[in-house]
Amino acid sequence: MQLPDIQKDLYANLKTYFGYDSYRAQQKDIVETLLGKKDCLVIMPTGGGKSICFQLPALTFKGLTLVISPLIALMKDQVDGLNANGIAASFFNSSQGHAEQQQIIDQIVTKKLKLLYVAPESLSGLQNILKETYISCVAIDEAHCISSWGHDFRPSYQQLGFLKSTLPNTPFIALTATADKATRDDILKQLQIENAEQFISSFDRKNIALEVRSGSNRISQIVSFIKKRPNQSGIIYCLSRKATEQLADKLKKNGISAKAYHAGLNFEERNKVQEDFIFDKTPIVCATVAFGMGIDKSNVRWVIHYNMPKNIEGYYQEIGRAGRDGLKSQALLFHSYADVIQLRNFANGTSNEEVQVAKIERMKQFAEATTCRRKILLSYFGELLAENCGNCDVCKNPPQFFDGTIIAQKALSAIYRLNEREAAGMVIDVLRGSQNANILDKGYTQIKTFGIGKDISWKDWQHFIVQLINQGYCEIAFHKNNALQLTEFSKKVLFQGAKVLLTKPVDVVEVKTSEKEK
Ligand code: ADP
Ligand code: ZN
Repeated sequence: MQLPDIQKDLYANLKTYFGYDSYRAQQKDIVETLLGKKDCLVIMPTGGGKSICFQLPALTFKGLTLVISPLIALMKDQVDGLNANGIAASFFNSSQGHAEQQQIIDQIVTKKLKLLYVAPESLSGLQNILKETYISCVAIDEAHCISSWGHDFRPSYQQLGFLKSTLPNTPFIALTATADKATRDDILKQLQIENAEQFISSFDRKNIALEVRSGSNRISQIVSFIKKRPNQSGIIYCLSRKATEQLADKLKKNGISAKAYHAGLNFEERNKVQEDFIFDKTPIVCATVAFGMGIDKSNVRWVIHYNMPKNIEGYYQEIGRAGRDGLKSQALLFHSYADVIQLRNFANGTSNEEVQVAKIERMKQFAEATTCRRKILLSYFGELLAENCGNCDVCKNPPQFFDGTIIAQKALSAIYRLNEREAAGMVIDVLRGSQNANILDKGYTQIKTFGIGKDISWKDWQHFIVQLINQGYCEIAFHKNNALQLTEFSKKVLFQGAKVLLTKPVDVVEVKTSEKEK
């Protein structure tokens, strides 16, 4: 067939089987490249329309399109969706008995099946059909799982490296929503598709407003955030299972209907929470990162991170679950040093500790930014934004700097007088002249800086000290009980009169959401 004929067929199929009148950006090029038997790497945000990129060509290919996907739980839904559209698709996994699996293999051999979803663990059961007579295309969904540089490494994905040598003339398409440059290169190398054509869409989700707030009084901040947005759907991500349950309880006590979701619930319980969320019966879910993968809900209006995620890929993917319908949505991140410390502890001693710590550091820089956050976020994915976005808290409320030299001197001399042995909390107590038992015990009322910062509130001191750390005037000794310590820069401030610029603490000003945005 000539290309124009194929294109005509493709448009017809797009309409007949999927009900779409046109392609979305890049889908056309990807589909045609794949049909031209060239390998493809597709990086497209969640909700961007990755599925069509392999589902549509699958209808044109003579043989089977094998779809590798890590999520057995979601395969059935995807296959049901395709079947409902009149497409011969099935899945192959460990939940099926031998007879059922054999039936699927028969359908492949007789070329009755167009798409087969399979988890990497189950590939071994398909050995007899892993031949180019049967297979026309291989799609690897969530391809970042193959890379230990990615945020969701799955060892089972590594065995996919052998597939290309088994099927050398079959076009491969690897797809993912999140992969920085290092991860992308690693995906290509591991899948042995180094010459793949790369399709990298813009990561900018302009409709999602970005905001970061200090983590103090999170619960009351969240309650007031939600109460200002009645009837909206949202997800709150927490770091631990227990935290999701505690938060859901606290919200309920405040009259807010919310459910917890985590991997500790059984299959039925999880399914129920998921469905109630999708069908708007439960507006709010407090969840661990286990929640959301593959959930196709377009009207999630906001995503809150109760804790700081361990890397920007995860953060980006999670906030991407908001506003898939393109309407205005919000992403709110709470940032606290306690979270950073906890994340570092998690990373401690893991096989790729260095990578993880570097990623936590980037995440922290994002959270503490005093320039447009979207610029920082996009630059992480190798995308440069020429203008400030106008839709993040920094753009809307630019920090105002003032001469904070005296404040810095007070803080740094307190750290010095405390022999660089105390964490931020104690330093602030000393500055504010607190008479608590711990201070009395240690005799800190006697030191020279005791009480010299009474005029500044606890919260504001916290804000200033975070900035001093960010600007390198002091640092946290993570391996010494998080004690604050001085740096080369501190000396310039303490002894050489160097000027320090600090930003004013901003009172939380919420951006109004209008009725229309619901
Ligand atoms: P991803 O896998 O990238 O997260 P999906 O393939 O699930 O995204 O598609 C996201 C949404 O976009 C789905 O609801 C899908 O129906 C819709 N969609 C995809 N392609 C098109 C298109 N060409 N025209 C209209 N809607 C589309
Ligand atoms: Zn901005």
